[in-house]
Amino acid sequence: MNLEKYIRVIEDFPVEGISFKDVTTLLKDGEAFKYAIKLMADKIRDKDVDIVVGPEARGFLFGAPIAYELGVGFVPVRKPGKLPGETLKYEYKLEYGTDSLEIHKDAIKPGDKVAVVDDLLATGGTILSAIKLIENLGGIVVHVGFLIELEELMGRNVLSKYNVSSIIKY
Ligand code: IMP
Repeated sequence: MNLEKYIRVIEDFPVEGISFKDVTTLLKDGEAFKYAIKLMADKIRDKDVDIVVGPEARGFLFGAPIAYELGVGFVPVRKPGKLPGETLKYEYKLEYGTDSLEIHKDAIKPGDKVAVVDDLLATGGTILSAIKLIENLGGIVVHVGFLIELEELMGRNVLSKYNVSSIIKY
């Protein structure tokens, strides 16, 4: 099955010049969704992970079914103020200003083996922030998985310390 044909590319969204990769067209196709989750889970299956982590919001859509497929737990990383328990925050730079992500402090135990997943790797800023949160709690990031990788943005460079996979490359 060629998964790339289930991704809808929308030009100039959310701003002019961006060629947006829309995964909703893959998600709504039962077979394509199932196959994408299987391929992403296969990259992690032999890594003996304790937890799968996914960042808000599309990281939830892939991370939760991958965790379910692997029979392990899922931990969300969210925008500030969304998680009800005690959280750890990580602030990262954007082109203009900053953004931050949070994780529940008790969600990862020191020594836990963790796979982090998201729908798409662009510059790598989002996933690196999730990784920092996991590592600050003592977790060990054993795999970083994406459905889509935008190769020209070279996000892999900021992830050079990690084992990285992607299923569809642009
Ligand atoms: P990065 O932090 O620059 O690597 O951007 C990746 C984040 O932005 C991911 O969480 C994606 O969900 C989102 N993102 C960036 N570009 C796209 C796109 O073309 N389609 C879907 N999500 C995107």
